[in-house]
Amino acid sequence: MKFETLNIGPALLRAVADKGYEIMTPIQADAIPTILEGRDLIGCAQTGTGKTAAFALPTIHRILSSLQAERDATAKANGQPTGQPEAAEAPADARDDRHQGNRADRRAGRHQTSRRPQARRKTRCLVLAPTRELVSQIAASFVAYGKHTALRQAVIYGGVGQGPQVKALQHGADVIIATPGRLLDLMNQGHVDLSKIEILILDEADQMLDMGFIPDLKRIIAKVPTERQTLMFSATMPPAIRELAHEWLKFPVSVQT
Ligand code: AMP
Repeated sequence: MKFETLNIGPALLRAVADKGYEIMTPIQADAIPTILEGRDLIGCAQTGTGKTAAFALPTIHRILSSLQAERDATAKANGQPTGQPEAAEAPADARDDRHQGNRADRRAGRHQTSRRPQARRKTRCLVLAPTRELVSQIAASFVAYGKHTALRQAVIYGGVGQGPQVKALQHGADVIIATPGRLLDLMNQGHVDLSKIEILILDEADQMLDMGFIPDLKRIIAKVPTERQTLMFSATMPPAIRELAHEWLKFPVSVQT
């Protein structure tokens, strides 16, 4: 099946075309429509099957839809036209330096002074993965698939200084991609707000189990709203993973490669 059959919008389709993908892998064909519907999903899939795009593409689409819906609600409440992306939300490749104001503002002779301060962006999606390498790979995929959108992410892992990670969180991230240990440290220091998470993704859940991360995951997930979409991927499905899936997911669709 071709990506064009999916309702994910032109910006994501362009990014997929930029990557040179033409047809979906089996896990993508199964998982993407399910995730777009808002269903929970448990995927038994190894790395190399295309599982990152299987969750990243529909997740980015849902985050952007949620951002747009919120903007429209605010615009309506203020009696302004709806359906307009804000200048600061424009795709990275169309965005001006914010300190100089946008093109329309400059043409109209309006500069920074005409701009109202923007509320900090809420984090709508949390992706948890066991290792720094996997977190970096997932983050690279979100950057590649979100390159024609204004998606903002914070990438969090241990073994490096906290400063840039704290800055990214303070700047406001739509998506946090993290290893559990460092995320918990930053949560305990008050740098992370998970209260508006709409989508929770657990990647390589069996690895996280083997590495002893389950107590950390429980502490983190306790701070995520129960009203959410949860996606869990694991290369193997031992009983302990099935039990956690039962605890964390609601009526999940199972996909397997
Ligand atoms: P993953 O399983 O997410 O680690 O992806 C494995 C590799 O497959 C990555 O290098 C992706 O860029 C690539 N890939 C993912 N989806 C597709 C697709 N539909 N067509 C071709 N390559 C893909």
